Amino acid sequence: MPVAWITHPDCLLHQMEEGHPESPLRLHAIQDRLMACGIDGFLLHAEAPEATPEQLQRVHTAEHVRFILNAPADPPQHLDPDTLFMRHTRRAALRAAGSGVQAVDMVLGGKASLAFCAVRPPGHHAERARAMGFCFFNNVAVAAAHALSRGLERVAILDFDVHYGNGTADIFQDDPRVLLCSTYGHPLYPYWAGSGDSASLIDVPLSPYSAGTAFRAAVTEHWLPALERFQPQMLLVSAGFDAHGADPLGNLRLGLDDYRWLGRLVQQLAEQCCEDRVVAMLEGGYDLTALARSVEAFLEPFMGGAL
Ligand SMILES: [Zn+2]
Repeated sequence: MPVAWITHPDCLLHQMEEGHPESPLRLHAIQDRLMACGIDGFLLHAEAPEATPEQLQRVHTAEHVRFILNAPADPPQHLDPDTLFMRHTRRAALRAAGSGVQAVDMVLGGKASLAFCAVRPPGHHAERARAMGFCFFNNVAVAAAHALSRGLERVAILDFDVHYGNGTADIFQDDPRVLLCSTYGHPLYPYWAGSGDSASLIDVPLSPYSAGTAFRAAVTEHWLPALERFQPQMLLVSAGFDAHGADPLGNLRLGLDDYRWLGRLVQQLAEQCCEDRVVAMLEGGYDLTALARSVEAFLEPFMGGAL
């Protein structure tokens, strides 16, 4: 089955302040790299639809959805010190959230094994009732809720962004149908203090400058037993690549081999437990070269013999 690649030109329109790291250049860098290395020619390209209010309200409050749908962008609004609502933010955010719906439908419909959503703004910091940390709607949560609405009973979200996905935790921490497995740099934004006893949240903080050995041990020792117990029917991935050693916003030292290892692990897990169903959603990653090469490394194991 092919790998689907879901994006939309509207995701390039959202641009915050000059020099803001979460910029349209990120998607351009990924696209250029996939064309240069030949992967692009093997992808099944699809366009992201806009998410509907009903799909958004599965994970966000009606007030938050109304706010983003109606917020004035002139002048731009600071929703937090780093998160600006600009003229085209609404369009990009609706496409980013809609991409996950499309991805779930393609994977459940047997059209793709992995559906990768190359979209922005990212989503995993957006809480049920609040935009923050460059995020407006929680894209991976919208996708997970859509999968549940399509009849799945258990889905797992794997989040390896260097920043903890506080929004995804806020939305699903009391939902036994969703298992959220995370690794993250600590201490680092959003200064998550650990999830205590929640059975739905498996999170492993990593000390500053931790490299691949610590990351792989965290995944192997903490994620895998939880996934084995949970038996998810679909894997959703909050694919942030800012744990790469070159990232200007991260504090970890992952390398391309680690992202390739993780891609292979996710691919094998999906094959064993959930009929090859994987939906990946781009989150962070702010060094353009490292981001593009990390996405390539993550995708390689899914390309089978195509390359
Ligand atoms: Zn991040």
